[in-house]
Amino acid sequence: MSVDAREIAKFDEQAASWWDRNGPSRALHDLNPQRLAFVQERLQLKGARVLDLGCGGGILSEALAAAGAEVTAIDLSSEQIDIARLHAMESGLEIEYLKQSSSDLARERPQHFDAITCMEMLEHVPDPEAILADCRALLKPEGKLFLSTINRGPRSFALAIVAAEHVLRLLPKGTHRYSLFLKPSEIDRGLRRHGLALRTLEGLHYDPFGRRAWRNSDVGVNYLAYAERVE
Ligand code: SAH
Repeated sequence: MSVDAREIAKFDEQAASWWDRNGPSRALHDLNPQRLAFVQERLQLKGARVLDLGCGGGILSEALAAAGAEVTAIDLSSEQIDIARLHAMESGLEIEYLKQSSSDLARERPQHFDAITCMEMLEHVPDPEAILADCRALLKPEGKLFLSTINRGPRSFALAIVAAEHVLRLLPKGTHRYSLFLKPSEIDRGLRRHGLALRTLEGLHYDPFGRRAWRNSDVGVNYLAYAERVE
């Protein structure tokens, strides 16, 4: 199991404001339609069994369920899971929320999921490769994996940390640690080591003033990745 207790404590603290569209999680809310579209372009969500790994308060989990997926969602922050459960009730959506690690779930439900989404989470764990190994174990053969994370380089330092946390105060200070950011080449290497093949990379961009999100081929800051289980 790869987890950093300090990271989880941070997300426990942020849980209460998670669903405030104008609060500290507003960027996640604004990015969500683009993340959902990236998934839907590659997976028929209706009837698909999907795991949302590191689901937080369930912003993406709810969108997946609303589009017809059968969603299980896990997180190690009990506050986030509580908020997620409550919000799904309010939304009238059926989602299985569990406070559980991906390694425990992999032991219980090997090769169980058609797809896994793991967004904005790998940059918060000490050993992202261990999470990718769990993903492989949880996926059915030919299962699909959707990731998003932040690249490590001068532009992501300037935008994701200096601008977002210190100048614009878009995110709470200390949300991200630069050293944990992941280059696409590192994701690719981790995927290859665990029988997963990287198929697509797309940049995910955000204008905090217009609150507009878009995708293109520039993966210098935030990016999405799509991989398939292979053998
Ligand atoms: N995926 C959600 C939330 C991203 S925030 C979204 O994009 O909308 C990152 C989340 O990952 C937090 O809720 C945090 O508690 C969770 N997390 C961090 N390390 C984890 C781990 N090892 N296992 C499961 N969840 C983890």
